[in-house]
Amino acid sequence: MHHTVATYSQRQISPPEAFSKAIGGEFLARIKLTGIPVIFLSPGSNEGGTWGGFCSESKYTERGEIAIHRALVEPTMCLPQPPIIRRVYLHEASHRLMEGHAHNAAFFAMNLVFLLRSGNGDEDPDWHYSSLYDLQDEAGRMPEAFAWGWKIALELASSELSADECARSIESAYCAWEEEQARREERIAEARERRAMESAKFRALQGKVNERWWFALCGGIFGVLLALALRYS
Ligand SMILES: [Zn+2]
Repeated sequence: MHHTVATYSQRQISPPEAFSKAIGGEFLARIKLTGIPVIFLSPGSNEGGTWGGFCSESKYTERGEIAIHRALVEPTMCLPQPPIIRRVYLHEASHRLMEGHAHNAAFFAMNLVFLLRSGNGDEDPDWHYSSLYDLQDEAGRMPEAFAWGWKIALELASSELSADECARSIESAYCAWEEEQARREERIAEARERRAMESAKFRALQGKVNERWWFALCGGIFGVLLALALRYS
């Protein structure tokens, strides 16, 4: 006997007002992104931790949508904060464009392109909120990853490339950078091995020299004793 299984399917509705205000057409044009579908969710009562949004793999979504916490746009829950809505949206949109990159330097660069493009005035620009959280997978090579991500994001943010084109450009640059890093690590390991071998050789040589001095000293003392013995015998 087979069970009949049903599932929910999405229905398009007009966006919550707070969301439309934060992510308007002008904003999308500025960041050069074709809007990514959004689904607003309330977390289940047994869910631990806090989250503002998430991005599931495309294959687990209906239309490649990203999820944003309902509380961010629902005025009856708390006063909507446009900068927070914007940053959560941009973070999750970066995940959608950089699928498979989790929080590595490529993801960091993509999110930074958005934050640099989104602006929000001179006093409190969105890029001030770029975070090392976005770069957490590069913990072992943070300074290099940060410098690489920052440089490429600055170049791309001021270009005419669409967000999607920026993502593809970051992706291929990241591949090349990863290979370069691997070669660099190899060179460092080889140099370390060479140094270890040279210092082992030096220690062995030093041991031999010390040995010779010791023999020479013993020979000298023996000679003096022999001379004295002959002199006073
Ligand atoms: Zn994330």
